[in-house]
Amino acid sequence: MLNTLVPTTECAPQEGDITAQIGNTPLLRLAQIERHYNLHPNVELYAKAEWFNPGGSVKDRAALYMVRDGERRGLLVPGKTILEASSGNTGIALAMIGAALGYPVEICLPATASPERRRLIKLYGAAIIETSGADGTDGAIVEAHRRHSQAPERYFYPDQYNNPANWQAHYHGTAPEIWQQSEGRVTHFVAAVGTGGTLVGTAKRLQQYNPLIEIVEVQPNSAFHGLEGMKHMASALAPGIYDPDLADIHMEVGTEEAQAMARALARLEGVLAGPSGGAGVLAAVRVAQTLTSGVLVTVLPDGGSRYLGDSFWDEA
Ligand code: PMP
Repeated sequence: MLNTLVPTTECAPQEGDITAQIGNTPLLRLAQIERHYNLHPNVELYAKAEWFNPGGSVKDRAALYMVRDGERRGLLVPGKTILEASSGNTGIALAMIGAALGYPVEICLPATASPERRRLIKLYGAAIIETSGADGTDGAIVEAHRRHSQAPERYFYPDQYNNPANWQAHYHGTAPEIWQQSEGRVTHFVAAVGTGGTLVGTAKRLQQYNPLIEIVEVQPNSAFHGLEGMKHMASALAPGIYDPDLADIHMEVGTEEAQAMARALARLEGVLAGPSGGAGVLAAVRVAQTLTSGVLVTVLPDGGSRYLGDSFWDEA
């Protein structure tokens, strides 16, 4: 059975604090989307439901990996504050992990981040440093760098954009899960990029399992997009961990069409994912429409309930 959850040995759930529940998310079969888009009967579409992580997004994985890596290296010790720049999900993940492990957390967050995200970060007890909305996540990154360089002894700054532990979380977690849950049948992996951690870590490991697996990267089609968590690389500060040459296929999607796919997922599948998940499924469908056989896997980075205040849900 492809659509059952098979725990991996590398990241098996354990007894313990909330962080032990990160990873091992379900792989959902998107059978109604396959039917709706008239995919070939030998083409299967799957998605990792990352809101099953306790902090509600894929970023729990990277955040925990960076924190544990910081502890191993002696960079994060009791008394230090975790400092990060985030458009939301990494901030929420670090706030949750900081609360669970006893570290204070400060998050540089653009003023445009949704009120729900802001509240989630605060309710875990973390502090928010608001940065210019017009400067987006790049403004938050610049502010986090500035604070860290002024008081390096005070902070542990994971720097998710340049920290290999970000992609390693996916190399050791997401990829083996996909390999086992698809019983080694995955032919395409499709990932929306923000820091590039999901794409880089998962792709590297999947291609070690089977070099023929095709990697599809998904970016917004414009610098002025509304796809939370995603980056238009040509116009943004390029993350150090991002590798533009890794993907075999580069896809661009528009904000409205990704939001429309998020609505379709809710209405056709009963799967309430956020817009970047819609972007990944849309790109996967476009690739799938060119195939007569294949097993495509994408990621739904967070759940739609994180965007309840957004009006795009109301459209027909
Ligand atoms: N979608 C959402 C909603 C996100 O929060 C993120 C993380 N920035 C991504 C997609 C992209 O993930 P990654 O940082 O691993 O590229």
